[in-house]
Amino acid sequence: MPVKVFSVPTKSHTDFVDVTGLVSSFVKETGIKNGLCVIYVPHTTAAVFINEGADPDVIKDIAYKLDKLIPWEDAAYRHLEGNSAAHIKSAIIGNSRSVPIIEGRLALGTWESIFLAEFDGPRTRKLMVQIIEDK
Ligand code: ZN
Repeated sequence: MPVKVFSVPTKSHTDFVDVTGLVSSFVKETGIKNGLCVIYVPHTTAAVFINEGADPDVIKDIAYKLDKLIPWEDAAYRHLEGNSAAHIKSAIIGNSRSVPIIEGRLALGTWESIFLAEFDGPRTRKLMVQIIEDK
């Protein structure tokens, strides 16, 4: 089962980095025709999601609404590090996604891209990609 760990720098406090190119070139490199690609971030204040990559305003709206729903400041937060909002967003969105590989390609929809979501950046995040081959 091929695995690769990428280092992905994020540029701002909240940042959604399109990692579709990284993931699909790894899939291609393995030569695996059919299987499942697991994309995972081993972080508690980051996440992975799949959504529209064609119109960049979609991810801006997602970031905007997450900030509205989960504000950075809240007097009721208990976590002393002060970044509870980032932990909550990470927990809600989740730290992995799986995408089928069919005929050597990620079976993403036409408008779909894979994003690494940063909620407490900027920093460098690990992105682990593992491929489980159908035999
Ligand atoms: Zn924390």
